[in-house]
Amino acid sequence: MAKVIMDQTGIQRALTRITYEIIEQNRGLTNLIIVGIRTRGAYLATRIGQRIEQLEGTKIPVVFLDVTDYRDDRPASRTKTTQLDDKINGKNIVLVDDVLYTGRTIRAALDAIMDSGRPQKISLAVLIDRGHRELPIRPDFVGKNIPTAHDETINVQMTEVDQVDQVILN
Ligand code: 5GP
Ligand code: MG
Repeated sequence: MAKVIMDQTGIQRALTRITYEIIEQNRGLTNLIIVGIRTRGAYLATRIGQRIEQLEGTKIPVVFLDVTDYRDDRPASRTKTTQLDDKINGKNIVLVDDVLYTGRTIRAALDAIMDSGRPQKISLAVLIDRGHRELPIRPDFVGKNIPTAHDETINVQMTEVDQVDQVILN
């Protein structure tokens, strides 16, 4: 049965808290760059960037990453990325995605990033951690932990594409 686990206010509060945590752990915000994983991670990254600017008056670069070619279940299509170019050398990256599950997407994102350059540090922010990791990957910033069954799915809806902000457990 579908159940709303975060409403618009809940998502806003979670993003505001994550933003404060990012600011707190990155004093001065120097060298910070936010990398959003398409599709919904990109919208979340943009929102976090906007909040940092509202709170600190500092404009942080926000870039987007498509990791489809880097998934280990699609080896044939793998091509070296130029998506991030040299933007990330020496940078402090906050990687952003909507849902963290097995960790394979984040592993793929790390590969894509490492192919593009050498960041100084990478941390991970996710709106939902639904558990069931298959790799040694853990988020640094979490909106909400939702323990799920394998056959459950989280439906993240964002106004940018879904006309509404909410998270539903199906
Ligand atoms: P993983 O690679 O960690 O298994 O899965 C994470 C990626 O798949 C994320 O990019 C996320 O968008 C998507 N994903 C995995 N499980 C779910 C889910 O239950 N709901 C949504 N919305 N996305 C999921
Ligand atoms: Mg995704």
